[in-house]
Amino acid sequence: MNTLLAAACLGLLSPPTAKDVMSRIDVEYVKSNNYKLSSFGTRHSLSDAAHPTRGIGAARNWIKAEFESYNASGDGEGLLQVMFEEFEPPVTGRVSKPTKFVNVVAVLPGTMPEAAGRRYYVVGHYDSMPTDVMDPNSDAPGANDDASGTTAVMAIARAMAKTPCESTIVFLCTAGEEQSLIGAKYHADQAAARKEDIRAVLSNDIVGDSMGPGGDPAKATPTLIRVFSESIPRNPSAERLQSIRTLAAESDSASRQLARYIAEVAEWESTVVKPMLVFRQDRFLRGGDHSAFNDVGFAAVRFTEVHEDYRHQHQTPRIEIVDGKEVQFGDLPEFVDHVYLANVAKLNAAALVHLANAPSVPGRVRVITAKLEYWTTLRWERSPEPDVAGYEVVWRETTSPVWQFSKDVGNVTEATIEESKDNYFFGVRAYDKDGYKSPVGFAGAARE
Ligand SMILES: [Zn+2]
Repeated sequence: MNTLLAAACLGLLSPPTAKDVMSRIDVEYVKSNNYKLSSFGTRHSLSDAAHPTRGIGAARNWIKAEFESYNASGDGEGLLQVMFEEFEPPVTGRVSKPTKFVNVVAVLPGTMPEAAGRRYYVVGHYDSMPTDVMDPNSDAPGANDDASGTTAVMAIARAMAKTPCESTIVFLCTAGEEQSLIGAKYHADQAAARKEDIRAVLSNDIVGDSMGPGGDPAKATPTLIRVFSESIPRNPSAERLQSIRTLAAESDSASRQLARYIAEVAEWESTVVKPMLVFRQDRFLRGGDHSAFNDVGFAAVRFTEVHEDYRHQHQTPRIEIVDGKEVQFGDLPEFVDHVYLANVAKLNAAALVHLANAPSVPGRVRVITAKLEYWTTLRWERSPEPDVAGYEVVWRETTSPVWQFSKDVGNVTEATIEESKDNYFFGVRAYDKDGYKSPVGFAGAARE
């Protein structure tokens, strides 16, 4: 263990607040990073990986070196562990030749022994594509799709690299998203096989344009970002599906609780950009890296701007005459709103700080249904972190998208709320001595 991490673990470095981290995310850096990522000509996954300045190899070498530079400190030490994750997928579908795919991974280890095993991810894909997804040669600057997400990941890493949180944060830049989520699938499958404890994945994909539909400035949404979350998991067991049906828990997956949590953090921290929660896994006809994590059982959400501009994504840069007017096609950095992108990064950073400093979600939260009663009794298991100070019961009407009511019940594992269990959904969350709250554990039911 190096001395910085040792100091952090001894409590000599206190974990950062969300405000600290947000204040270190700087628009000028975001802008220069986004322009730099857009300057490699193409970042197509099948492009020439050996060229020094053009193609996906040059891009990933730069990303890795940049992550490493965040570590530079007075004594040359650093906490951020930066690595390439390399693999060669089978030649099939959107991989037309033997190709090494490389994710860039930076890990900021957590400082609390009871919490460091929990991992929180922020993800962007650094590959890009022109009009033809199989064309590795044409220009594909990919400024918004997804240099914007990659920039957000990097700007957050830069803002957090010297002040770790209690839990571990992973900054992941994937390759092969456009070739069918190849990099994210590989990483998620490996993590699942290693039984890593991934509690939340924030995937940022197309997060840089605040304009309205078709670029309309009158309908711009500079203070909103969509956050997509899945409801029912992809392949639930018959037993799990039965449980979801019995509890009416179709809107209470861990990903959905994560989405609600991000919206709460936005309120607590008064972030400029707020989430617009979309209760579906993704847009029509589209996919993204978060679903690779969902598919192996991890909670994951997708951040995407409210109105995408199809002239500026998956388009080879060119000028065309449309309805008698010159139209610039192509995913160019001049169409990215870097103030907006920095604000999206700040919202992600705030959510990560809260998640990674808060206690675990309480275990086995359940409503006791042994007999017919007017009020609602809940039980749960303690969160394992030593700084847990208490628990909060939350509830909402069955038609409400978000938690509406809460009650601090103190440091206990059972509480009774004077409301009918038939009329509301219930959950419990833990809070610590600094006031950080965990996401909500949705209450199942138990006859005990
Ligand atoms: Zn994308």
